[in-house]
Amino acid sequence: MTTQELIYNSNRYIMGTYSRVPVVLVRGEGVHVWDSDGKKYLDFLAGIAVCALGHSNPQVSAAIGNQAETLMHVSNIYHIEPQIRLAGLLAENSFADKVFFCNSGAEANEAAIKLARKYAHEHMERGRYRIVSMKNSFHGRTLATLTATGQERFQKGFDPLPAGFGYVPFDDLLSLERAVTEDVCAVMLEAIQGEGGVRVPSEGYLEGVRKICDDKGILLILDEVQTGMGRTGDLFAYEASGVKPDIMTLAKALGNGFPVGAMLATDTVAASLTPGSHASTFGGNPLAMAAGLAVMDTLLNRGVLDNCREMGAYFRERLEGLKGEFATVREVRGKGLMIGVELSIEGTDIVKGCMERGLLMNCTCGNVLRFVPPLIITKGDIDHAVDILEEVMRNQ
Ligand SMILES: *Cc1c(COP(=O)(O)O)cnc(C)c1O
Repeated sequence: MTTQELIYNSNRYIMGTYSRVPVVLVRGEGVHVWDSDGKKYLDFLAGIAVCALGHSNPQVSAAIGNQAETLMHVSNIYHIEPQIRLAGLLAENSFADKVFFCNSGAEANEAAIKLARKYAHEHMERGRYRIVSMKNSFHGRTLATLTATGQERFQKGFDPLPAGFGYVPFDDLLSLERAVTEDVCAVMLEAIQGEGGVRVPSEGYLEGVRKICDDKGILLILDEVQTGMGRTGDLFAYEASGVKPDIMTLAKALGNGFPVGAMLATDTVAASLTPGSHASTFGGNPLAMAAGLAVMDTLLNRGVLDNCREMGAYFRERLEGLKGEFATVREVRGKGLMIGVELSIEGTDIVKGCMERGLLMNCTCGNVLRFVPPLIITKGDIDHAVDILEEVMRNQ
């Protein structure tokens, strides 16, 4: 099929849940992808923070290939070796003691919500079931997670939404404290808001959230679906704050492109999920676990986190440089290689211009350019990307 035919059939046969760019990506290697016409792009979106170790990462691809030839799927009614090993690695490298595996970020958050409610039923005073999340947040598209998502644009038309959720402004401890009433069992938030415009909370915010949760005897659920797995320069974003959540969710980069999600918790909290209380046919599947193991091994042993920190600082510095040149650049923010550039104008034309010149990123909230490149990028890649961006902005 020609590119035109592919796009025609895409619109003909695939439900219209995305407003797609008229490009078909067919191959990837490292920080680059190629489209069906052979055009090469520098990929600073990386599947939206998924392909953190680069496209077709050799370790991850080999691990998936080997596992596919050994054992692709068995039921969770049996013990699964790569699942045992990945759970051990995640637990040993985080606050958590136990892991539940699923297939996506929304599923991981759905599991976290279920666990918080079950734990509350068993350990808190009666009537504590509500979960307070943040305005402008993003937690997924299932009914419960889109209800936890504090943005009406995602919820519109899907009512009645499940009961038991409430929202407060992000980075506002006073509002949170007031919102934690007698019926609240947990606070749920992202360490840095991703879809909400790459919003980094103030110094001390997470510590403050933890204190409120401790004072009221409720759970802290941290959604690290986007910030986790090295994105911010630490394996998990909470590490930089020194506070530990009770429940944490992961997905996106955990499989470097192979679908996998995880919900992690302390022993005390995890004990509320007993046989029959939650499950997933594919969750913890050997193939997904092989991918996750290769990702963890590469992240921990190949200097990826150091590179993320160094390149993140360099990238932000280069982007800051654009602020002097273009009055439309309001703010450069982020941590590690999760970076947002807030503009005073709509960002879609800039994203389009960059794509035409071979640079992929996206725009969130209408005016925030979002860069979540592979964590293995070099200074040369960053220079190349900033050159393209600069040229596009100059031609605006
Ligand atoms: C992407 C994302 C999700 C949803 O993940 P899916 O795999 O698309 O279900 C949830 N939370 C955050 C913070 C995300 O960035």
